Amino acid sequence: MSWKLTKYELDNDNLLTNESLLSLGNGYLGVRGNFEEGYTDGFKSIRGTYINAFHDETEISYGEKLYGFPETQQKLLNVIDAQSVDIYVDDERFSLFDGELLAFERNLHMDAGFAERNVHWISPKGKEVKIHFRRMVSFVTKELFVLDIQIEPITPVERVKIVSTVNGDVSNYVDKEDPRVASGHAKRLHVTEARQDAAASIVKAKTYVTGLEAACVSSATVQAESCEYSSQLTDSVVEETYVCQGVGAVHFTKFNIFTDTLRHGQDLIDEGKVLLHQVQDKNFDELLEGQKAYLDNYWAVSDIEIEGDQRVQEGIRFNLYHLLQSVGKDPASNIAAKGLSGEGYEGHYFWDTEIYMFPVFLMTNPVIAKNLLLHRYSILGHAKERAKELGHEKGALFPWRTITGSESSAFFPAGTAQYHISADIAYSYIQFYLATKDEAFMKNYMAEVLFETARLWADTGHMQNGQFRIDDVTGPDEYTCIVNNNYYTNVMAKHNLLWAVKIYRMLEQQDEDHLRQLASRLELTENEVEAWKSAGENMYLPYDETLGINAQDDSFLQKARWDIKKTPREKFPLLLHYHPLTLYRHQVLKQADTVLAHFLLEDEQNLDTIKNSYDYYEEITTHDSSLSSCVHSIMASKLGYSEKAYSYFNETALLDLENTHKNTKDGLHMANMGGTWLGIVYGFAGLRLKESGLSLSPVLPAEWNAFKFHLRYQARVLKVQKTREATIYTLVEGESLEITHNGEALVVESGKELVVPEDAV
Ligand code: BGC
Repeated sequence: MSWKLTKYELDNDNLLTNESLLSLGNGYLGVRGNFEEGYTDGFKSIRGTYINAFHDETEISYGEKLYGFPETQQKLLNVIDAQSVDIYVDDERFSLFDGELLAFERNLHMDAGFAERNVHWISPKGKEVKIHFRRMVSFVTKELFVLDIQIEPITPVERVKIVSTVNGDVSNYVDKEDPRVASGHAKRLHVTEARQDAAASIVKAKTYVTGLEAACVSSATVQAESCEYSSQLTDSVVEETYVCQGVGAVHFTKFNIFTDTLRHGQDLIDEGKVLLHQVQDKNFDELLEGQKAYLDNYWAVSDIEIEGDQRVQEGIRFNLYHLLQSVGKDPASNIAAKGLSGEGYEGHYFWDTEIYMFPVFLMTNPVIAKNLLLHRYSILGHAKERAKELGHEKGALFPWRTITGSESSAFFPAGTAQYHISADIAYSYIQFYLATKDEAFMKNYMAEVLFETARLWADTGHMQNGQFRIDDVTGPDEYTCIVNNNYYTNVMAKHNLLWAVKIYRMLEQQDEDHLRQLASRLELTENEVEAWKSAGENMYLPYDETLGINAQDDSFLQKARWDIKKTPREKFPLLLHYHPLTLYRHQVLKQADTVLAHFLLEDEQNLDTIKNSYDYYEEITTHDSSLSSCVHSIMASKLGYSEKAYSYFNETALLDLENTHKNTKDGLHMANMGGTWLGIVYGFAGLRLKESGLSLSPVLPAEWNAFKFHLRYQARVLKVQKTREATIYTLVEGESLEITHNGEALVVESGKELVVPEDAV
């Protein structure tokens, strides 16, 4: 059921949105859902193919450039276009916008891993054909993008001509009106080689500044009665033409291999040819078998089944599918805010990874989660340099947005000032440790990251009247910038500091030699560790006695309250209609801030404070950021606000499918997609992962009949089913496990089902 997303639209706006929705990817390569044959006049398209982390650097131009502002930023590039295939039926060019369409639909198959278009078309001169387009970005051979086109004449046709190109003359998309899309530097790639040899069409291109290179090695096969082949070359395009005469059906398959210097060394073309050789003797259906096997494995643990709500079921699967398509699986890459589905936020990695997407992989696919942590580890050097640049003696300040590790954020109040990203990264390492108990990883990576981030906090904050305070930072809410003692930042820093101490002491016990070596490499002293302890234990966490809530920061509650209900709908998102200062002067939130802190570190406050805070902040939160509704859904679940929990969840699940933020065309909202999973697993099922172990407190939304998911935890796979009558835990893999269910300890025996009736416990 509902493994397929189907679309029929042919209007401009929907086509752009569908380019993102029907994009394909595998974490390395991403291709938007463009039409092979292009569009007609007046139609916009963002034609895009992306390689995760493949970027150029551009200068940031400031009116006034102050000390420490980054000089350059990175930009994910649209690379060589291998999507284009034109089809001529007796010399009439096939286009969905000419002639008559008897049938048209496009599908994304999330269980099988391909997209297709089914077209039944009559040309302006009356030639009738059926065309079946299929495309796949392979999970098995990450460099492979394959197109498969079957053309079946219905009325007699004398000639079918296919013109297939590999085009290196490409640019990025520009929208000067929207700060969330890049505003310039569209063309950053130049072709260094375009040629053809006996084996393939080859285009290689190089970026202007970083000198990174990407190549596409492409080869096609055609099955038809008889075809003539010719080819043409320009400086940047290789074009191949097949003219097939006296036709019955024509079957065209195009294999495109993408390589780049970040992963494949210098011999991109040779490497591409080897890979091409390995896949080329398989037909599309054979390649699909490998794809399906990969996805069967993925879904076996990652799927969430919902009984009683088809639309949400489609939403959750769609989101989980795109998460898999977007997440980098090699050490050169992470997961961009838009994945590989579009150019919004320029392919940058944000805290979105750690707080919204990492947990999904952590609890279902820890190998991928570990790679995300390793990627952050690989940029620790940059983070340490950046901390120095910002005047810190020691420590690591991770970049707010980046590809390579250096800060790419030009607007520091809502960028670099979001120091919390360093604590967010530390938090994800801690969660990984709790979920996997991977001691080697803890020793070799986590300890260093925790120590360096703890150093940042020790150096950023200061002790005053026995309290540790952190001034002039920005929390997650970007409508409130550069404030003292942002609750979220302080509490996350506290967690970071105290865990750094804990790990230090643990290593002292377990492996003193290792600790001594590490401490000596980092020039870490016992005094520093004591200072972390003191800073953590004395961390100031703003609390307002009158309201009984945690204040978002020191000055927040003294500001004028923004009246969201009186703000006209067309003024949202506020960031596109009000100067930042107007927003900063008001109590108004772009996204969950204190409420998010209460989710991540719930034991820091009592339930009353958490509830009061939720009630208070909810009224002034716009959810202009797509990172917000899911958090409100999770916390509404915790507080027993079941209707709110469901309604926020619904917004999350369908955000891209219904294009509710009106910018899905620029790429999918990946953090929100992770948020859907969190909304179910941490929200409705109440999962928490703490030192004390796994705890759950599942509640079934009134709208559903049941739901079911799996978790990976310390070498086990636990199936959780929630029905109206009971919660059923089954250990599918691994040894018996003690968990907490609604506050009571339970043991789930290996291979057995444990049924907890609704009223029990
Ligand atoms: C949000 C940030 C987020 C970024 C990228 C912004 O609109 O406010 O929290 O990291 O988008 O998704």
